[in-house]
Amino acid sequence: MRQSAARANGCVALLAVCILVASCSAQTTSAPASSAGTTTSTASATTTSAFTTSTSSTTTSSSTTSTSSTSTSTTSTSTTVAPFTDASNDYLGEEVIGTSAEGRPIAAMHRGTPGGTVILVVGVIHGNENAGLAIMNELRTMPLPVGIDLWLLDLMNPDGYANDDRHNGNGVDLNRNFPHDWTQIGEPGYWEYSGTGPASEPETQAFIAFTQRIQPELTLWYHQDLYRISPSNRRDGPLREEYARLTGLPIITVSGGTYTGVAATWVRNTLDPSMSFIVELGPTLSTDEAVVHARAVLAISELVHRGEV
Ligand SMILES: [Zn+2]
Repeated sequence: MRQSAARANGCVALLAVCILVASCSAQTTSAPASSAGTTTSTASATTTSAFTTSTSSTTTSSSTTSTSSTSTSTTSTSTTVAPFTDASNDYLGEEVIGTSAEGRPIAAMHRGTPGGTVILVVGVIHGNENAGLAIMNELRTMPLPVGIDLWLLDLMNPDGYANDDRHNGNGVDLNRNFPHDWTQIGEPGYWEYSGTGPASEPETQAFIAFTQRIQPELTLWYHQDLYRISPSNRRDGPLREEYARLTGLPIITVSGGTYTGVAATWVRNTLDPSMSFIVELGPTLSTDEAVVHARAVLAISELVHRGEV
């Protein structure tokens, strides 16, 4: 499914890449609303960051109003507040990781803490499911928890995005083309056509080489429009549940297709250590919802960074 609004956001996202590359140092930091006006003197004393999380802010406010005699506990609470990077200068570059079947570049943006916990977010693998680009757009400028080494791969399938098509330029469903549990599905023209063999497509090969190099600990994928996250009893199960809780998505098994050669499954079973899951957005995604999703990405990234999963 594709949305014209989402497509517009996608264009904005692509434009943002160009602007960011040209003038990232001049961009305006977009602080999360939860941080606005919540930095207290106590928090400032214990963390140099200008940002606090909504949870800790609430706690801090409560402690502060109760009386300064609780300063010990207040200080203790504040030290748990994660510092955030300065979004205006945590840009680490942009890299073309490969070329699509029709010759389009596959580009990834890199920001955050070099050498930190590597998180990868993929905006579009099915070219006509692009609402996730609005989330990617938010993740370009949102302050990151310190320690997060974030890669943003907007378009793994630039051909499909350009052609408003699920498939790449060869008519292959890239999310059936990965070399874990690959099977032959259909023929060219079939909606789940899996290609001529495992990792037959240049986009798949580029993604494999890229992730084997950066070794993401968590990889997220956006799709539409089943509005759900599948449950898992593996290590990323709690992360899925937390993401669902933060965004309101239900945990429901995805069904209705042939799920072999799936990218997220390849990541989970091939990269080590690695967690990966798909977020099925609904048919539309507002800007406000995109912000909520972007914050959820960072919240679960921080759980990974702290080793709490
Ligand atoms: Zn999809």
